[in-house]
Amino acid sequence: MALRSPLIDSALLGLPEFDAGSVWLVGAGPGDPGLLSALALHALAHADLVVYDALVDQRILRLARSNAVLEDAGKRGGRPSPSQPDISARIIRLARAGNRVLRLKGGDPCVFGRGGEEALALAAAGVPFRIVPGITAGIGGLAYAGIQVTHRETNSAVTFLTGHDSDGEVPGALDWDAIARGAPVLVLYMASRNLPNIVARLLAGGRRPDEPVAIVSKATTPTQSVLVSTLGEIAAAATGVQTPSIIVIGEVVRLRAALDWVGALERRKHSS
Ligand code: SAH
Repeated sequence: MALRSPLIDSALLGLPEFDAGSVWLVGAGPGDPGLLSALALHALAHADLVVYDALVDQRILRLARSNAVLEDAGKRGGRPSPSQPDISARIIRLARAGNRVLRLKGGDPCVFGRGGEEALALAAAGVPFRIVPGITAGIGGLAYAGIQVTHRETNSAVTFLTGHDSDGEVPGALDWDAIARGAPVLVLYMASRNLPNIVARLLAGGRRPDEPVAIVSKATTPTQSVLVSTLGEIAAAATGVQTPSIIVIGEVVRLRAALDWVGALERRKHSS
């Protein structure tokens, strides 16, 4: 029987059934519930359990089926954060018990989200799963700040980076000189703590200190804020900026002056 969500017509959209005993690894986007995909809404409407990460917006969790069990992957039973293998083992166990398990992650599950690790564990365990991409903060979050990650006039490539590796340090395996020389636009995830160090490496690699930089905090949420500065000044300017935040370095930041549509809509609302 085709299940129907109160929010979307799954038959009309030809959405697949969420089978008992399977896991859907779903991206919830950066915050704004309007950025959820139809598949994500469908999964929320039918999941028996939602195992979610810290960055998933509360407004999105409220869309879950009323009798679904919501489980914070980071805080189960008040114990310290479970490790990644613990979370993978948990969702495998829940699926094997016959549940429809929605593993909900911020942004896109496979962009710096360890979705791949969980998918590999599910595949190895023989648990059927589906991956539902989400809008990643480094693209959708920047769009809400009036910054597009590519623009014909400025860059024909964009580089996505994490600001720290699994030890919390600036990723040492990266060739920072090559990045400084060859990556016209850099989008940094999880980089607020190591920002001074990253900026120093980019400047040492030849980037200009007057290059524009933006930090978008809590992108796509009602408390989104945007700081625009330069590579030379951003580390000092960024102290106290709220997290989560996405950092973008490159000429595309200048587009914001004309394309800050969130700000323009706010001003219209206040002047009418
Ligand atoms: N899978 C996620 C990223 C997870 S890593 C995605 O595709 O977006 C977590 C990092 O994502 C944060 O440290 C921050 O850099 C970024 N991030 C996630 N949500 C954000 C938001 N609403 N605003 C700004 N940055 C965000």
